[in-house]
Amino acid sequence: MADLVFPAPEPVLLPVEGGAFFPVRRVYCVGRNYAEHIREMGNDLRDPPFFFDKPADALVTDGAPIAYPPGTSDFHHEIELVVAIGKGGKDIAEADALSHVFGYAVGLDMTRRDLQAEAKKAGRPWTFAKSFDQSAPVGTIVPASAIGHPDKGAITLAVNGAERQRGDLSEQIWSVPETIAFLSRYVTLKPGDLIMTGTPAGVGAVVRGDVLEGAIAGIGTVRTEIV
Ligand code: MN
Repeated sequence: MADLVFPAPEPVLLPVEGGAFFPVRRVYCVGRNYAEHIREMGNDLRDPPFFFDKPADALVTDGAPIAYPPGTSDFHHEIELVVAIGKGGKDIAEADALSHVFGYAVGLDMTRRDLQAEAKKAGRPWTFAKSFDQSAPVGTIVPASAIGHPDKGAITLAVNGAERQRGDLSEQIWSVPETIAFLSRYVTLKPGDLIMTGTPAGVGAVVRGDVLEGAIAGIGTVRTEIV
């Protein structure tokens, strides 16, 4: 064992249905993957996919509260399908991509929308808008061996019981296999990587005290409270 100058950080673990844990390595996120959300943000439907990322330790497990973050007055929810990679690779063929998926979960790509708008305007990175502490609540991972590879099904988010976002996985512009194939041309994927696959329309602001409940048919739920 190396002589550490301070204790190494604890591994980031997400619960898997059935009792085991999924050790997280990296968290990639797809921008703009549902047409209605692209329209609501005023962007071009013809753009190819692009990616940003969140640190693994931004993850928050299901049911745990998240603190309203500093530096924003426009803190937004984005409900997303999360793909959990179980087998690594690079230049993965679309036809082979689903064999690299361990399972799926429901996640929230929490966003400081005001800081994102400033970053876009200035041509700066989205780090402060997307990659901050507690910016990624994610529910229990369900193995593909149990549920298969859903490519349709309602994806919804309610705030305090009132529905805010609704879409269907079938509306994704870039499918999960296409997303994995594209991403793996630029980075080597490894077991433990997560891909958040973009949000449907209806994003909006939350405040302290709000309870967020997300769901994807056939996959599960995620819940958090803003404190
Ligand atoms: Mn997103």
